[in-house]
Amino acid sequence: MKLKFKTEKPIESTEVKTDYVCLNGKTLSEQTINDYAQFIPKWNEREEVRDDCYLVSCVQPQNHEHNDDPALGGEPSMIISKGNNHNVVVHCRNYSCPDSVILQYFLSRLIGEEVPMFVKQAPKRELTAEEERRIMEQKNTDRMNKKYNKSLSRWVEANRRSR
Ligand SMILES: [Zn+2]
Repeated sequence: MKLKFKTEKPIESTEVKTDYVCLNGKTLSEQTINDYAQFIPKWNEREEVRDDCYLVSCVQPQNHEHNDDPALGGEPSMIISKGNNHNVVVHCRNYSCPDSVILQYFLSRLIGEEVPMFVKQAPKRELTAEEERRIMEQKNTDRMNKKYNKSLSRWVEANRRSR
């Protein structure tokens, strides 16, 4: 019997994408973190994670405990950074804030008009590789945390026994 292997589909070129002209005359893909920053209410309280990467309060505060506001006891959840293929990558750690919603928030403000949900499809294709990488990163972090917690509890257990 011949085994058939599924051939993997070639990854679609990211060149095919929708771009928007924004209020500042630049296209969406030309916007920088600074262009996005004006629409982040708590931008002044940002925490610099590393160069061109900031942790800020989410633009969907209603999805977060304490409005994602440190002043109210919340923990900032949104990361805005410069990506390899994109000037700006925004992502919220909360699953209630999918990238499509975050993007829609910024896009409608950058272009100055309400963006219907079709935006969901366009940037999705553009972001697939990036999203995948982030999901993997998230998974790895979760795994590492679990591993860490496990070895920590083992250590605690061992210490208790040796007493
Ligand atoms: Zn959020």
